[in-house]
Amino acid sequence: MTNERILLARKLRQVLIDFSPVIETYTDAVCPACADICCKQRFTVRNETDLQYLSALNAPVPSIDPARPPDALCQFLGPTGCIQPRWMRPWRCTWYFCEPLLTVILAEPRKKTIELEAFTGEILRLRNELLTRR
Ligand code: SF4
Ligand code: SF4
Repeated sequence: MTNERILLARKLRQVLIDFSPVIETYTDAVCPACADICCKQRFTVRNETDLQYLSALNAPVPSIDPARPPDALCQFLGPTGCIQPRWMRPWRCTWYFCEPLLTVILAEPRKKTIELEAFTGEILRLRNELLTRR
């Protein structure tokens, strides 16, 4: 494992930690009233970039319950949302914007959406860079 990869992964973790309260201002507004929760078991499966990132951090990959049907609610869904810290979640869990979520985000002043775009752009950039440094 190169130092460069470890540094990239640490940087990515910090950006995800910083991004979490920003995106939660929107999920807190819409998710508690959701009638069709998107957190399904099949989304817990990590893709290659998620796995490379956790490996570079030497962080554990949470075990998936093979007995839970793919369309059941996710095993990590707790009473107040996901029990995994955002920096550990599969990226697709954060990179999902349902219609109600998009509606509240797009109603924001442009400077807020620019902030969101900057976070997601940086996260995508770091994830891509991590993959190319193997
Ligand atoms: S992100 Fe959208 S679909 Fe998922 S729980 Fe929140 S409101 Fe429901
Ligand atoms: S956000 Fe958490 S609870 Fe929801 S699908 Fe992802 S891992 Fe499961």
